[in-house]
Amino acid sequence: MRNNRIWARILGVEKTVVEAVEFDDVEGCVVVSVRPMSRARSRCGMCQRRCPGYDNGPGRRRWRALDAGLTSVFIEARTPRVSCGEHGVVVAAVPWARHGAGHTKAFDETVAWLATRCSKSAVCELTQIAWRTVGSIVDRVWADTCETFDRFDGLRRIGIDEISYKKSHKYLTVVVDHDSGRLVWAAEGRNAATLRLFFDLLGEQRCAAITHVSADAAAWIAKVVTERCPEAIRCADPFHVVAWATAAVDKVRRGAWNRARVKATPRKRFGKRGRPRAGTGNTPDADREQATVVKKSRWALLKNPENLTEKQAVTLRLIELEDPALHRAYLLKESLRLIFRMKHDDAVVELARWIGWARRCRIPEFVELQRSIVTHQDSILAAIEHGLSNGRIESANTKIRLITRVAFGFRSPDALIALAMLSLGGRPPRLPGRNHPQIRQ
Ligand SMILES: [Zn+2]
Repeated sequence: MRNNRIWARILGVEKTVVEAVEFDDVEGCVVVSVRPMSRARSRCGMCQRRCPGYDNGPGRRRWRALDAGLTSVFIEARTPRVSCGEHGVVVAAVPWARHGAGHTKAFDETVAWLATRCSKSAVCELTQIAWRTVGSIVDRVWADTCETFDRFDGLRRIGIDEISYKKSHKYLTVVVDHDSGRLVWAAEGRNAATLRLFFDLLGEQRCAAITHVSADAAAWIAKVVTERCPEAIRCADPFHVVAWATAAVDKVRRGAWNRARVKATPRKRFGKRGRPRAGTGNTPDADREQATVVKKSRWALLKNPENLTEKQAVTLRLIELEDPALHRAYLLKESLRLIFRMKHDDAVVELARWIGWARRCRIPEFVELQRSIVTHQDSILAAIEHGLSNGRIESANTKIRLITRVAFGFRSPDALIALAMLSLGGRPPRLPGRNHPQIRQ
């Protein structure tokens, strides 16, 4: 094999002729000069159609390729422009990179693969590109990937959800397939108009094939679902119902902490800052201890008991002894959560019993929660009856939320959506060049 052919193989480029390989001493990188093969030449960058040439364009430019060993590699080529009947004057397509990209396809694919599997810092350090650039790359990789398959195929039971992705009340509307656990669709915004975009894409025939829809209690979701899938069975999203209970426990805990804190500091200190002198305004140790226990109990109260650390289990036991009302709130949350793991017949009995218990519990937050549960009782039981209450759905929800945190720093929500779709959409990125027989060691 000639050197130039070896370089084409190293770079993972197709329909490309390698003209020369040089080392750029100034930049400290290998520069591979190339040109497209004649059948890949003179094509529109947007539609790939063969078009008449226009001019030589702005000159030579470089694309970042995958490193060769310890050295960065750039591909360099001319960038002539063509005149497309549909797109006007555009830079001609190149077979080694996506239109408008500054990296080769193999580089893009590798970054997308890394972004769905590694931490932000690992991706940036290994590839030496900024996280924002990673965002642009996953965006264009997903744009190509979603063309290769029908993501709405066989959709029967879906979950609709809204997820906040920035502190400033920015939301995504997401749709998951309950049968495969895949993320099917996501878009910026949380309102009826956004959700209608999904049903428009789905089309009338496929809307009619939807049998179950789970969602939280948002009125706009209910409205659009009634409009587009009137026959589908409506289910409450167990993830949200448990989240309501978790939020209620947290509210009770904050109240308890405020009370304990006030009790532990009986009067305001005046004068110099710092530790009060002995005998002047010191607080009884017991009160202070109780305040500390309540303050540090957040995760012990909110986590599932099977995930508690030993220390958190002790905290929970202390809460049981020190603050019975807070402990009761915890038990109410846990028993509601467990109802979703029961068989339907048992769940009917237990949910009725839970409602009675919550109504009489003398904790305002839970009396209020009980009212919402009564309102949504039918859809909660429907979720349990039709098996939309399993752990896989909860795990899909958790994963999407995790990605919104990882994607923080991307320039646009499109990049966040692309990363979520590549990670959870059922078509994960693949490493380039793995179709050749590999040498294993
Ligand atoms: Zn074109």
